[in-house]
Amino acid sequence: MTFAPPLEFEIDLPNGLKYTQPLGLFINNEFVEGVEGKLLPVINPCDETKITQVWEASAADVDRAVDAAEDAFNNSVWATQDPLERGKLMNKLADLIDRDFNILAGIESIDNGKAYTSAQGDVTLAVNYIRSCAGWADKILGNVVDSGNTHLNLVKREPLGVVGQIIPWNFPLLMLAWKLGPALATGNTVVLKTAESTPLSGLYVAKLIKEAGFPPGVVNILSGFGNPAGAAIAAHPRIKKIAFTGSTATGRKIMEAAAKSNLKKVTLELGGKSPNIVFEDADIQKTIHNIILGIFFNSGEVCCAGSRVYIQDTVYEEVLEAFKKETDNVKVGGPFEEGVFQGPQTSELQLNRILSYIKHGKDEGARVITGGSRYRNRGYYIKPTIFADVTEDMKIVKEEIFGPVVTITKFSTVDEVVGYANNTNYGLAAGIHTNNLNKAIDVASRIKAGVVWINTYNDFHHMVPFGGYGESGIGRELGAEALDNYTQAKAIRIAYTPEHK
Ligand code: NAD
Repeated sequence: MTFAPPLEFEIDLPNGLKYTQPLGLFINNEFVEGVEGKLLPVINPCDETKITQVWEASAADVDRAVDAAEDAFNNSVWATQDPLERGKLMNKLADLIDRDFNILAGIESIDNGKAYTSAQGDVTLAVNYIRSCAGWADKILGNVVDSGNTHLNLVKREPLGVVGQIIPWNFPLLMLAWKLGPALATGNTVVLKTAESTPLSGLYVAKLIKEAGFPPGVVNILSGFGNPAGAAIAAHPRIKKIAFTGSTATGRKIMEAAAKSNLKKVTLELGGKSPNIVFEDADIQKTIHNIILGIFFNSGEVCCAGSRVYIQDTVYEEVLEAFKKETDNVKVGGPFEEGVFQGPQTSELQLNRILSYIKHGKDEGARVITGGSRYRNRGYYIKPTIFADVTEDMKIVKEEIFGPVVTITKFSTVDEVVGYANNTNYGLAAGIHTNNLNKAIDVASRIKAGVVWINTYNDFHHMVPFGGYGESGIGRELGAEALDNYTQAKAIRIAYTPEHK
């Protein structure tokens, strides 16, 4: 007798809800087994137990998904219907995600480990973004170019075809929404791979995609590893574009694979080492709140985390003391525990990566102000950690740690801190805290980053573009900019002879 792993599984969530979790690969609106029969364990980072297992996609499964997506793009009603209908389907999907709000928030918390309140925030943002993109569907406008009275020039915005999307594990549902929203609004079809450590919410949304009534093949969702499944998407000759969020190292591989295969278009949302600057004239209490939010939100697993804090010398001791005090009040614990702000890290791999950075910091002579170690014996918890007495050449100041670890540096002048802020190959985000508007605008325009927050941090709106300078990425997500990544211009130049000539 052979063991046949199931395609769904009943899960009791710690928030009291029970639901049925799909486990198969979502191809052509069906949950199916992977061709190689491999399974991927899903681990709860809060207690290191196995929640369930999902089917793992191989390169052959990517082929199957591309076949389905290509067929949907070429032959289904998706490509030919009034775009308003796409918007209606997307709004239906947003309604269904909203209907299952607390199931999805619960899934995100058990799979990723994030605080339940943060997970609820993610669901709200995901619903808002899909709704916003639904509104774009019938507003993808072209252009008419006037070139005299012998030609009529039309510029149409056409979808690309099958697009590949690879998402990370820090915001599994929200990154799925950021990827699906613009791709679907513009009429493409999708093969999306979730991260190997957080496959659950993507498969649950797949079920809702089917329930909403999307034609088969429009969205295909695969669980699987970067290699082979992600690499097969990046190198696939029939995928016309790839959108990726994750590490800079993987971003490079994806660009290389895109170049070597079919020159598919590439957008990348990568890492960062973002500066968060405190000037002497800032509102200190508000600023401390923003620094905490900047680095400890989502357990520090945020690409735009404010991981390098610069404090002006005249308020250095005061701000550092207040920051330490508030950091010691940050409640770390299980996502469903009362008042928890910081949950565990998402995986053992991440836990160990972060601990090794902490060790490096200590070995290099940085001073631990607070934290600097694991918390609890079970689960991947780390204490919020502040390092002071750092120098610009230290590994913990230069490299993305992607955890609740922040470095503090003293500065005296604007020029000095702008120099520090820009002393990085990244350029995703920056924070500036001051009550002097002239200074804020001057510094914001001198910092090389895709997003600059003034007197706030980690503060998103779905219509405000997000993305990086330098090695933090290519292209922008959110806002009108996100849509440009998913269409191509077709110019139609029509020669005509005016009747009266
Ligand atoms: P990663 O970049 O390797 O993984 C992100 C996604 O890429 C996952 O879905 C993974 O399966 C996929 N992937 C991995 N290798 C691939 C390949 N060769 N081709 C195609 N897809 C591939 O990140 P990670 O190893 O999970 O984490 C490492 C570091 O990346 C973190 O410590 C952090 O610094 C950074 N990171 C950044 C973000 C972000 O939001 N920018 C998100 C996750 C991780």
